[in-house]
Amino acid sequence: MTTAKDATPHLEPCIPLPLSDSELSAVVEKAKDWALMHGVGMRNKKRFSKDSLDFAPFALTPSAFPRSEFDKAVNMQPILNELTHKVAHDDEFLKEALATTLAVDDFTFRLYTIWEIVRKEGIKQPISLGMLRSDIMLETNCPNLKKCKMHSPYCCWKQVEINSIASGFGHLGPISRAIQSFIMNQLGHGDKIKDLPKNDALNGLCSGLTAAWDIFNVSDAIILFIIEDVTYNICDQRFHEFEIYEKRPEIRVVRKNLTEMSKQAVLNEDKQLIVDGQLVAVVYYRAGYEPGHYPTEKEWEARLSIERSTAIKCPSIQYHLAGTKKVQQTLARPGTLERFIKDPEKVGKVREIFTGLYSLDFDEFGEQAVKMAMDNAERFVLKPQREGGGNNIYGAEIRTALQRFGNSPERTAYILMERISPPICPGYIVRPGQSGLPPVSRLVSELGIFGVIIGTASDIMVNRQVGHMLRTKLSDADEGGVAAGLGALDSPYLVDL
Ligand code: ADP
Ligand code: MG
Repeated sequence: MTTAKDATPHLEPCIPLPLSDSELSAVVEKAKDWALMHGVGMRNKKRFSKDSLDFAPFALTPSAFPRSEFDKAVNMQPILNELTHKVAHDDEFLKEALATTLAVDDFTFRLYTIWEIVRKEGIKQPISLGMLRSDIMLETNCPNLKKCKMHSPYCCWKQVEINSIASGFGHLGPISRAIQSFIMNQLGHGDKIKDLPKNDALNGLCSGLTAAWDIFNVSDAIILFIIEDVTYNICDQRFHEFEIYEKRPEIRVVRKNLTEMSKQAVLNEDKQLIVDGQLVAVVYYRAGYEPGHYPTEKEWEARLSIERSTAIKCPSIQYHLAGTKKVQQTLARPGTLERFIKDPEKVGKVREIFTGLYSLDFDEFGEQAVKMAMDNAERFVLKPQREGGGNNIYGAEIRTALQRFGNSPERTAYILMERISPPICPGYIVRPGQSGLPPVSRLVSELGIFGVIIGTASDIMVNRQVGHMLRTKLSDADEGGVAAGLGALDSPYLVDL
């Protein structure tokens, strides 16, 4: 599977490649129309219009993924849900983990300040709704490669990050399976569709929202989506809304950005959140995770009002903080998981999914990490406390950044992470505006597993894994954001290695 020319392990594509030009051309044309007609779409960033959609970039055929590792990820999700839930409810831990970051990262500091205000005032809604997505990659560059899987071109998967806010692709995940099933049929490989695992993410996530609405238990209360000023990834929000209308027509969904909230929302004496005269039962944030979503103080005030309210938040502010990269790095420190997970076997399983994660604090460990990164920058990713893609630093630029930080505390706003090297699976990526036929490319994938959890500090009422999504990019790209035009929608084709 590994060629002399290319040392990175490969996974076999699900069908023989390349396709003939005539077959490729016919199936691409059909697939593009299928995409546009079934909501595999995004708004065009350069020519934005609310009146039109482009199809979203997609991998023509599903990418191979080892079945045993997929099953492991699915089974791990309830454990990760519970871990995130417990972290979010451990005030001392959050305070300690984020201490150095808060001193230098204004955005995280502001989130944390909201959490402090809400706690001091008395929490009006003890229930949180978590709609999480754990992102993972197969690791081929692992010292255990020979030991753990002699015959496989991968070792096992490692966690990239866990998203606790605005975890997208609840619609785009399942629809990717649908379009690739259509394509596989067109190509005469319909027999292989059985190895594309079922994906009910949209239904699972929306059931989380409606379960929270049921718990709130006020028949005319609404579900509020907090959205960006301009939504490019519109299908991945509207389909949630449409799914709710279909399954629960009695529930109303309202969409507002934080600026609108600052003008239109009211927090009444009982700390109920009222929007357009309607009581809010559940707030689902699809924005609020980056500084640009708060252009003025007004938007911060709006966020505070929401957090102070009786509405069930997805995520509540403490969940948002629990999803930071600094928390992920702190959890990877020896002895830390045991604070949250009592079963030693489970602790061992979770520890295995962490790749090297290092703090850059000004202590012995931080200095060691800086030295490692300066000596071998290509092995690492430097990450600030941001979400949404495009913020990380890779390769030689890590050196430049560390040199620029010098002894400035700014350094502690970042964490250092070992770079994961997933196996390459050849395939075609179809993009809007592409001239000519797509070439066979060297692709790598990142799997996201969705989880839903509802509970209070002392009680977990719902905890399930609800589906998945796969994003695929060219193997030499650093990041794979689909909305950013780098990644493509995909779904796993499970193989037994
Ligand atoms: P964000 O919150 O911006 O999504 P991520 O930590 O998920 O931040 O990083 C963004 C992207 O960068 C990932 O989707 C992945 O493609 C790439 N990436 C992040 N960390 C690693 C890593 N340790 N190894 C390889 N690629 C990574
Ligand atoms: Mg990410």
